[in-house]
Amino acid sequence: MALTMGIDIGSTTSKCIIMQDGETILASALKVGGIGTPSPDAVVAEALIKADLSKEDIACTVLTGYGRNRYEGGDCELSELSCHALGAHHIFPDVRTIIDIGGQDAKVISLNSKGKMQNFLMNDKCAAGTGRFLDVMATVLQIPVNELADYAARAENPVSISSTCTVFAESEVISQLANGAAMTDLVAGICASVANRVASLAKRLSLQNDVCMSGGVAQNAGVRLALEKAIGMPILFSPDAQYFGAIGAAIHGMNLCSKAE
Ligand code: ADP
Repeated sequence: MALTMGIDIGSTTSKCIIMQDGETILASALKVGGIGTPSPDAVVAEALIKADLSKEDIACTVLTGYGRNRYEGGDCELSELSCHALGAHHIFPDVRTIIDIGGQDAKVISLNSKGKMQNFLMNDKCAAGTGRFLDVMATVLQIPVNELADYAARAENPVSISSTCTVFAESEVISQLANGAAMTDLVAGICASVANRVASLAKRLSLQNDVCMSGGVAQNAGVRLALEKAIGMPILFSPDAQYFGAIGAAIHGMNLCSKAE
């Protein structure tokens, strides 16, 4: 039996997964805060406590995510693209396309039947079409991000957000609010804006079934449903979507252990 750990230090959130033999998830932990905050150490400590293990029990720890190069608690690193591919493949073996919307970027990744990343496209230049856009709008509307989907589901006449720039879209939302637009209709428009933006990135890569989402924004059903409509394909969802990078990192750790034997 080999125990491995995957630590995904994202731009906004740190995630840790402990796996047995690269198959079974023993523990998971997630905290808002990336590199330079106490969150990476905190998620490692929390996952070890949950699994009733100590760091010495872990055969290999693999780092991934935006902050992976600046964290000192790992044995090796692997890019988040490869880790998301491995993690998504573990949960959904038939997945060939991943749409990953994180706190600061969005990626569309194609992978083969073995979970190996084949190609990708990325938007890391603009906050529109990322979790950042949703976080900014949620703050303006004073709604927790995890409640955006509930608001979107109750929309009767979704408001179309015409500005593609986050700063201009923020002003647009403020003026729509002042004009009496319903919060539910505004939130539906905000979710659709992110979905349409990511869909135009996704359509530049040939989209193959099955498609799944990864990253924290996958938990927003408002974005998920709008994205399904925009790409015209069903999207698989797992409640562990935000952990796919960390799961992939733990699986990579297991692959390294198997090779070393
Ligand atoms: P990163 O790896 O870049 O830090 P994540 O993939 O962890 O990003 O996703 C972070 C994003 O997910 C944030 O923008 C946050 O608002 C969003 N998010 C996190 N939890 C939820 C939730 N329960 N519902 C909707 N959005 C969420």
